[in-house]
Amino acid sequence: MIAKILDKAVAGDRISADEGLALLESHDLPEIGRAADFVARRMHPENYRTYNIDRNINYTNICTAVCDFCAFYRTPKSGEGYVLPRAELLSKVEETVALGGDQILMQGGLHPEFKLEWYEELLSDIKQRFPQVNIHGFSPPELHHFTKVNRLSIGTVLERLKNAGLGSIPGGGAEILVDRVRKAITRGKVLADDWLKVMRVWHELGGRSSATMMFGHVETLAERIEHLERLRQLQDETRGFTAFICWTFQPENTQMAQVPPAGSFEYLKTQAVARLYLDNFVNIQSSWVTQGLKIGQLGLLFGANDMGSLMIEENVVAEAGTVHFLTLHEIREAIEELGFVPRQRNVHYQLMDPSWERRSLIANERAVRNGGLLQIA
Ligand code: SF4
Repeated sequence: MIAKILDKAVAGDRISADEGLALLESHDLPEIGRAADFVARRMHPENYRTYNIDRNINYTNICTAVCDFCAFYRTPKSGEGYVLPRAELLSKVEETVALGGDQILMQGGLHPEFKLEWYEELLSDIKQRFPQVNIHGFSPPELHHFTKVNRLSIGTVLERLKNAGLGSIPGGGAEILVDRVRKAITRGKVLADDWLKVMRVWHELGGRSSATMMFGHVETLAERIEHLERLRQLQDETRGFTAFICWTFQPENTQMAQVPPAGSFEYLKTQAVARLYLDNFVNIQSSWVTQGLKIGQLGLLFGANDMGSLMIEENVVAEAGTVHFLTLHEIREAIEELGFVPRQRNVHYQLMDPSWERRSLIANERAVRNGGLLQIA
């Protein structure tokens, strides 16, 4: 039944929402994986697979939204809320640079009081000291929140942040881009149309961003496809997405702890179907952070062409109980085991200078020996 659909995707023809759903409903993981691998190799005939080095800096955990799946946030009245002191934040960037990183992923909760000037100053402080570092920052829920707090249009917010040094936008906070799902698992957070609008306006300003999907909670399989469809449509319009990354919901320590976590089978199948469905996305990242090294590695045979980031620090997933430790050596080895050359890339998927890459490797291995700074916690 699914053979015809897979043949169509392998031939480079676009598959429909009904066909995508038939793939997700199928249990034929090997055949779906084989087709996704074929498409990934057609789009990436090169002999290498990539990874990135960055640091996840969460500038605050104070958040006015309530997301039942989130173990990271604290309410404004909680005694456990924090805002990272600027000096501490800058020293994290400094460490990242010393370890060979060229990017920081900077996200936080939806702080009730900070005005746009606070974020502009934050960006300028970082760029003044580290002009070479790309700031991949502020997911659409945060950016939409800034429009509300400041009573400004999203175009103005994005232009001002871009002028202050914002380099690219992470695709976080997408979860499933279907309002029924969003209303069931979040309160006070951007809905699907506005999430997409933030990305559309950013792309129109010439910016690039990633796209994500967190699945395996209350969504149906049809809603997973609807999510992919909305991303595909926007990518047809703007071509502004650099990559797609999906991961499974991590229930531990959340209000949804009763939801059984989706397993590796579901993860690999969903990623493979995304590779087949998102024919206008050049890059797919595997997610070893939630799946661990071996499934993250297998992801490269199920449609992904990138191992994602070696994250020097990760707080959000760790709060939800998932703790996978990987060193740069392990990421590179995982790629090599599959017969590919591991190459470091930047946020735009440009390969880093090889000599720079060697220096990074040496610096990183030294850091691992000195106490594991490169391990996420
Ligand atoms: S997922 Fe983001 S918006 Fe939702 S509660 Fe957590 S920090 Fe706040």
